[in-house]
Amino acid sequence: MNTFDAAAATAQWLATLSPQETARAVAYTHGSHWLILWSFLVSALVAWIIVRTGLLTAIRSRIERRRRRPVMASFLVAAVYSILSWVLTLPWSIYAGWYRERQYGLTSQAFGGWLGEALIGAAISVVVSALMLVAIYALIRRARRFWWAWGAGVTAAFIVIGLVLSPLVIEPIFNTYTPAPNGPVRDAVVALATQTGTPSDKIFIYDGSKQSDRYTANVSGLFGTARVAMSDTMFKQGADLAEVRGVVGHEMGHYVHVHILWTVAILIVLSALAFWLTDRLYPLVRRLLRADRVGDISDPAGLPILALILAFLGVLGTPVLATMTRTMEADADRFSLVHANEPDGLSKALIKTAEYRAPSPSAIEEFLFYDHPSVENRIRRAMEWKATHPPQPLAEQPTRP
Ligand SMILES: [Zn+2]
Repeated sequence: MNTFDAAAATAQWLATLSPQETARAVAYTHGSHWLILWSFLVSALVAWIIVRTGLLTAIRSRIERRRRRPVMASFLVAAVYSILSWVLTLPWSIYAGWYRERQYGLTSQAFGGWLGEALIGAAISVVVSALMLVAIYALIRRARRFWWAWGAGVTAAFIVIGLVLSPLVIEPIFNTYTPAPNGPVRDAVVALATQTGTPSDKIFIYDGSKQSDRYTANVSGLFGTARVAMSDTMFKQGADLAEVRGVVGHEMGHYVHVHILWTVAILIVLSALAFWLTDRLYPLVRRLLRADRVGDISDPAGLPILALILAFLGVLGTPVLATMTRTMEADADRFSLVHANEPDGLSKALIKTAEYRAPSPSAIEEFLFYDHPSVENRIRRAMEWKATHPPQPLAEQPTRP
């Protein structure tokens, strides 16, 4: 007869966090929720400033007056807008992306290193978003009524190309990825890979500690480029095999259940909806910003208006996206429990993520903001699994590394 008490074991795991650590995690997490609102207000302010300068209308008129070159006009306007809004948002980005992370001890990256990477990221995003906006504006001109549906198709194409290329060209710019080195960790991972049908040559370790002290792993890429990558932060205090198996089992769950493809499919639907709403809201927002010199939605000089509406919809969509990923994360946890059967290893890893994701939010907070189930819920499910699938005759006491 099994007397293992899942609720008590969950409480025991949570008690391995000190009250100070928990308070800090709560402060950080609540602050992160507020950042969503502040970031939106910053982008609204930036959009307003850019509309006020009249710079984009000037560029558009100059190009269009000489010759009718709408592609050129939309490309230049989009590039100038992306650069300008990046620069205007920079002080806020420095606070939210670097200063605040340092305040909470979640990164030890120097400012220069952070800024250098932010600049590279911005350069990539300026080029990609300018190309994408050229396509969107071409669709608005040619398919005025249903551009939002075509636009979702273009978005999907960009997402898929981006996902396929990311491990090949984007990720190597920021981090070094190496196959897991020979040894017990690699052996454990390969054995689990064989068992779950994941190609074992697709498991990498990267120098994630360069940017962040967050304990994390991920799946990136798509089709042939898909891979599981573990941050070296996972191995800082020496690797615990049960923990590695628990985490890698979770990532293999994402891989085997093709969560990336599900995400893409849902994003296509959501972007169609977002573009449709943008189409409807554009005239209203244009009036609100008193952007008299800006034309209808086909005018690329109206890009700040478009961006502002999309940012607003992004805020409204937070719970939808959070629920989508949270559902997949719960599924990946289940996969890990079934295939790796390391409820304690998984819990040991999960408790480390509590430093940037407060472990016990209210149900409504979890629903609105959490893109992973709360650590408390995840550990409770692992302990419930353990109760019905006892790995060893004696329940182990949770220990901190
Ligand atoms: Zn995950």
